[in-house]
Amino acid sequence: MSLLVVGTVAFDAIETPFGKTDKIIGGAATYISLAASYFTRKKINLVSVVGGDFPESAIKMLKDHRVNVDGLQILKDKKTFFWSGKYHNDMNTRDTLATELNVLGEFDPIVPASYQDCEFLMLGNLMPAVQLKVIAQLKNRPKLIVLDTMNFWMDIALAELKETLALVDVLTINDSEARQLSGEYSLVKAAAKILKMGPKYLIIKKGEHGALLFHKDQVFFAPALPLEDVFDPTGAGDSFAGGFIGFLAETKDISFDNMKRAIIFGSAMASFCVEKFGVEKLIGLTQKDVDERVQEFVDLVQFDIALV
Ligand code: AMP
Repeated sequence: MSLLVVGTVAFDAIETPFGKTDKIIGGAATYISLAASYFTRKKINLVSVVGGDFPESAIKMLKDHRVNVDGLQILKDKKTFFWSGKYHNDMNTRDTLATELNVLGEFDPIVPASYQDCEFLMLGNLMPAVQLKVIAQLKNRPKLIVLDTMNFWMDIALAELKETLALVDVLTINDSEARQLSGEYSLVKAAAKILKMGPKYLIIKKGEHGALLFHKDQVFFAPALPLEDVFDPTGAGDSFAGGFIGFLAETKDISFDNMKRAIIFGSAMASFCVEKFGVEKLIGLTQKDVDERVQEFVDLVQFDIALV
């Protein structure tokens, strides 16, 4: 039984108050797979698409993190998906400068037969129609389907997104996307509306202000680690999703209590991600780094109160 990750594998160009990059390796599925690799001992099955311009060294880097690339289509005469963004001084908000779909424009995902044992499915940010096609190809419904999406798809593919939402267990979006999707400003009201659209669990990410997990009438809050230096928030949400699903896939426990733990592991991976540009920080971590970071989260929120 395995973890299947679907999403973009991309070139990104990023501008933050601390610097600017040329085209570097990015993409939702890249961040998710790398983050998940610190939790799962098994291979992570990837479904995505790149162009002939995508470097062999980046594919090797994924393989080195136990990512199975049998489901990665390489369209030799096409260009890889390209995204460019510029962060504002608060580092919590950004403007998208360019989204060039390229290979993604005509992407027809094929789930290899060897991926049919999928127990945990992470549908990373991608066209909702592609996410739907992947669900449709699985002969058995996974134990857990997690979906990540963004305002871009709410703007141009809301109907397909709603169709996909009806089929998933967990939705992860940020606070402004939760407001856009629900039409509600209060996140509590937004969550109540979104939970009626299909997902049983909703995670609302609030950048440096942590994340909320909603399920029925339960709510859990996980902080983000206060960091001295945040260089590049790109991929933080995907790293969060990777840590979250990687931990759940390894423990195979999808109870609310275990999801709370998974959110802390996800937050830990997001905190690493933002400390360097692109995937740089995520590729060289050790188990000790991850354990120490998770302990920092535990210490951050642990307190005793004796109520009389
Ligand atoms: P995040 O910062 O977690 O929202 O994720 C950033 C990553 O998402 C970047 O590496 C981009 O390549 C990728 N990305 C940006 N826009 C899109 C989009 N419309 N669909 C899929 N992936 C995207």
